Amino acid sequence: MRDLTGREVRLAARPQGWPTPEDFAVVEVGVPDPGPGQVVVHNRYMSVDPYMRGRMDDRKSYLPPFQVGQALDGGAVGEVIAANGAPLEMGDVVFHNLGWREFAVLDAAKAQPVDPDAAPTLSAYLGALGLTGLTAYAGLFDVAAMKPGDVVYVSAAAGAVGSLAGQIAKLRGASRVIGSAGSAAKVEYLTKLGFDAAFNYHDAPVRDQLRAAAPDGIDVYFDNVGGDHLAAALSRMRVFGRIALCGAVSMYHESAAPPPGPANLPLAIGKRLTLRGFLTGDHEHLRPEFVAEMGGWLRAGQIRADETVVDGIENAPAAFLGMLRGENLGKMIVRL
Ligand code: NDP
Repeated sequence: MRDLTGREVRLAARPQGWPTPEDFAVVEVGVPDPGPGQVVVHNRYMSVDPYMRGRMDDRKSYLPPFQVGQALDGGAVGEVIAANGAPLEMGDVVFHNLGWREFAVLDAAKAQPVDPDAAPTLSAYLGALGLTGLTAYAGLFDVAAMKPGDVVYVSAAAGAVGSLAGQIAKLRGASRVIGSAGSAAKVEYLTKLGFDAAFNYHDAPVRDQLRAAAPDGIDVYFDNVGGDHLAAALSRMRVFGRIALCGAVSMYHESAAPPPGPANLPLAIGKRLTLRGFLTGDHEHLRPEFVAEMGGWLRAGQIRADETVVDGIENAPAAFLGMLRGENLGKMIVRL
């Protein structure tokens, strides 16, 4: 693309424990011409997600590690500005996985067209109508088999996945929904979202606060945090309860050996619990049903899908670090 340049964010160094701004570099690069079957996308929004922290370590996982000196990647939504023999046209809006850059050049087959008129903002395709929403939906229904009348506990409940999981559980007939989060403001926010009880995990041990919030026990735990939150939930689970192991954000920065698993795990035997880890990518079959149901809830104003929006690619590392520290209400989004 003659004379067109754009910025991208590279991994400058592998973080040791908590990442710092020095682990990132924002670099101006030329935008190449699209090859046959490729498109150039002007990114409008990009996502910063907890799983990206894991990819910064040089460790084998379900996704390859990011490489030092190279651009990061992740979910993004943007507009096609050039196409070379591709089945997409200028002006088409697409979701793809080359975020962390202002312009992306990619095979058209890896760009998924989205309908700009079917969402309140394009960023919804990174949040409520995208991976985030599908994670909440699949975790509750496919993984934890939530049913009407269940008591549901959600951790990191004021974040992107958690805030949707709690609201969806309520809409699908949970008898009581409990959320935990990291500040008094977030606890207040959860009550506005319709959670029946909420607590700040910094105030007192999770186990004590959860006992008070769920005096009759829990049927479903949607685990975003791991660690002491998981141990507390194990103690409160009712017989035949189900735990959806979605994430373990309290454990993503371990630089030394990770802490041992919950000491009370054997409770799962007597209570006949199911603990099931999942990756949303394995639940794509739910997408049509999810898009229809979630789209309806959003249009009817039955679900609030709040976003914390940070402007400018130069601030993407700060947005990522802020999300890990809990500075977001709902989905953390970078507007480019
Ligand atoms: P969030 O929007 O929830 O942001 C992360 C939140 O984690 C922060 O806002 C912060 O909120 C909380 N947090 C950070 N450190 C701690 C800690 N030590 N203890 C408790 N809470 C903490 O992110 P997402 O909604 O995108 O992700 C939520 C979880 O879902 C993550 O674990 C993520 O890895 C997982 N996930 C899993 C997927 C899958 O396929 N299995 C797909 C997508 C996400 P607070 O202020 O409350 O501390």
